[in-house]
Amino acid sequence: MGIEISSQTCKFYLKTSMDKKISLQEKANYIREEIIRVAVSNGAGHIAPSLSCVDILVSLYYACMSFRADDPLWEDRDRLIFSKGHGCYALYAILADKGILPRQEWECFYKEGSTLSGCVERRVEYGLEAGCGSLGHGLPIAVGLAFGGKLQKKRFHTFCVSGDGEFQEGTTWEALQFAVKHQLNNLTIIVDFNRLQAMDFIVNVLDKEERDLIKRLEGFGLLPIIAPGHDSEQIAEAIKKTKVSSGSSPKVIIAETIKGFGLKCMENVPRFHFRVPTNEELSLGRTYNKNAKL
Ligand SMILES: [Mg+2]
Repeated sequence: MGIEISSQTCKFYLKTSMDKKISLQEKANYIREEIIRVAVSNGAGHIAPSLSCVDILVSLYYACMSFRADDPLWEDRDRLIFSKGHGCYALYAILADKGILPRQEWECFYKEGSTLSGCVERRVEYGLEAGCGSLGHGLPIAVGLAFGGKLQKKRFHTFCVSGDGEFQEGTTWEALQFAVKHQLNNLTIIVDFNRLQAMDFIVNVLDKEERDLIKRLEGFGLLPIIAPGHDSEQIAEAIKKTKVSSGSSPKVIIAETIKGFGLKCMENVPRFHFRVPTNEELSLGRTYNKNAKL
């Protein structure tokens, strides 16, 4: 079932303003700390779905996507539709780190005066391509962008980051049917496969078994790439392959993740879908090195 990405050495390094080289994983840990810092101090829930997709987004923004931080409206930019809108803290933290989203907007997120939504609203000048949060409607937007890009012979690639639970909602399957029919090989769907859907495990909601989604995707003639969702290096490698692939199908990456990844109190705990951790819960610690200096 699917293609398993195996562990191998594949280094993507980033340069900081101090001309220091850091790894994607170090950057991902920094973004995790940013999410926890701002969300906890501002009292914002939805930390767990945000921590789930940090490595996916870091791989996209620091290793794979073409865009111009000083020109968010650049016509040939790769498009990202962030369909699992409730995990948007990860996206905001990265856009602020990139200088696309004003730092102050991120710092005051969820407080009076903030103009950022608790889900994503379309603000292309801030790098937010589409409003998402009513789940199951990001993929059709991405499919429309990819189809339009093909019709206009544009070179940009479209990415859609979806939750696994939202494949039970909206117009996801209709969009996928269209994408396969029209051979949208300029579209990559990355599924944050954390096996949780809001406050419960997906097997308790609609699926008979954990890998039902993969079987359904294979029924569309797709061959999902399965990657470890908290290994930025391997996700980036998988994404880069889909971007240059000469095949005629849209590509799907199943990133196997853990909801709430990084916080010991939160990992795989359904009640933390929205709940903000207490100081006592935070004191249980991290599952990564939070002291890495960038
Ligand atoms: Mg999920």
